[in-house]
Amino acid sequence: MAVTSIEPSLFASLEPPRLAGAKCPVCATVTFPVQGECPRGDGSIMEVIELPDCGTLWTWTVQSFEPKPPYRAPAGGFKPFGVGYVDLGDVIVEGRLTGKLEDLGVGTPMKLSLLDLWPAVTGEQIVTYAFHAEERS
Ligand SMILES: [Zn+2]
Repeated sequence: MAVTSIEPSLFASLEPPRLAGAKCPVCATVTFPVQGECPRGDGSIMEVIELPDCGTLWTWTVQSFEPKPPYRAPAGGFKPFGVGYVDLGDVIVEGRLTGKLEDLGVGTPMKLSLLDLWPAVTGEQIVTYAFHAEERS
């Protein structure tokens, strides 16, 4: 099924999934999501970059009650899910965590993936990003 992102500016690419960030050409500050001007106030225009798809879990928690709209519960109803901050090296990104909660801990290697939200009226699957614990090999 074709996929479309809930917010196009979040992604540099959907296949494979890669998030878009912004980097200051002067002080090298990196932001997610993309922003136009350097948050350090040096007046620079940020350049859009592709962020790494792997990082480590910085901290996390479990969302155990149903969030308010615009959250929409999945077809099977609300189930508690993980949310956390993943350190991608130059920037820390907040996101949904998928997979088993017992696999998560501070420092766990994490990988970016797409999370299905709901079908669009036009037939595509609307997606956002999420992170899951990387398979240990
Ligand atoms: Zn800057």
